[in-house]
Amino acid sequence: MKQLKKISNALNIQSYADDLIQITSKSEINELLNLINDNQSYLVIGEGTNLVLPENISFSVVQPKINFIEQINEHEVKVGSGINWTTLVKYCLQHNMFGFENLIDIPGSVGAAPVQNIGAFGVEISKFIKAVDCVDLVNGDQITLSQQQCEFSYRSSIFQKKRYLITAVHFHFPSTHKLICHYDSIQVLMKKKGMISEDLSPIILSELVSEIRSSNLPNPSIIPNVGSFFKNPIIKKADLSLKNFKESDLIIWDVGDEKIKLGAGRMIELIKSRFQYNINVDVYQKHALVIVNKNNAKQEDVLKFVDEIKSLIEEEFSITLEVEPEIIYS
Ligand SMILES: Cc1cc2nc3c(=O)[nH]c(=O)nc-3n(C[C@H](O)[C@H](O)[C@H](O)COP(=O)(O)OP(=O)(O)OC[C@H]3O[C@@H](n4cnc5c(N)ncnc54)[C@H](O)[C@@H]3O)c2cc1C
Repeated sequence: MKQLKKISNALNIQSYADDLIQITSKSEINELLNLINDNQSYLVIGEGTNLVLPENISFSVVQPKINFIEQINEHEVKVGSGINWTTLVKYCLQHNMFGFENLIDIPGSVGAAPVQNIGAFGVEISKFIKAVDCVDLVNGDQITLSQQQCEFSYRSSIFQKKRYLITAVHFHFPSTHKLICHYDSIQVLMKKKGMISEDLSPIILSELVSEIRSSNLPNPSIIPNVGSFFKNPIIKKADLSLKNFKESDLIIWDVGDEKIKLGAGRMIELIKSRFQYNINVDVYQKHALVIVNKNNAKQEDVLKFVDEIKSLIEEEFSITLEVEPEIIYS
């Protein structure tokens, strides 16, 4: 009998797959191409920090473990998809390539980072991507997509269409760099530490970001979670409808074009007293946008809770929240 493979994931759902194929170099891609040729189903994963897995995955899991960092020149680096994202951020800071400081400590792999165009504290990874090497999973071709071909937008890219397996990412960094520190939480921490903008360097800013993240977000290896569970909704300003709350109760960012982005975490915070008690799942006490596995939750528990949150938000604000992590069905 074939032994099932345990698939580790940040939400700590006890999940098993028929097979786990780890690709450590481009030459091992043939194994993946065989699956494609045989018309077999498979799932590409990185570190499993943005997935809600079922208990039984009835197909093979393919995990790129291509680990290299190649310095092309002082402003450019090519990185294998298996490298851990924060390992790369630290490498870049140490080698005077600046821009990733706001993105430190986002869990996961380099290969997954372009998939949802990871972002934090006013910075998105797409700004630094020059090109992406991938395998076209439809015809097995190994190709390079330019930044433009990646179709990046807020938490979105062409890679979400699942046609490509990313093997490496080419990053480039501007020769002059301006630190992005306008986010409230950064300003508040700077003030608390008696710092002014002139005190900041990319490394110091990365340390502030790290400090903010560890005080607001649960560490998945201690409290299983997949980070923000919902995207911040963007709506027309005129469409904002409130029943029991005032505009000042919400977090609102003006995004131009008569549109606003709403802090989904604050909206959930406002309605969370209406949740039915659930022994397995809850929102994180310090940040309601994060769903945590309290007890041994199954995918079913998480999805039921997600539906409850979505319908309460819809009832209160007439807004349909969009889930950020990917739900994998067996
Ligand atoms: C505590 C916490 C905080 C987080 N904070 C943030 C944040 O601030 N900002 C943010 O943007 N995200 C955040 N996330 C989400 C997560 O870190 C990112 O989505 C990350 O890029 C996922 O990386 P991964 O390797 O774990 O990918 P996985 O979860 O394994 O996969 C995610 C998606 O990428 C695809 N994929 C993975 N590798 C490849 C590849 N090589 N080629 C093609 N497709 C691939 C998978 O099929 C899947 O669709 C957070 C998550 C956690 C747990």
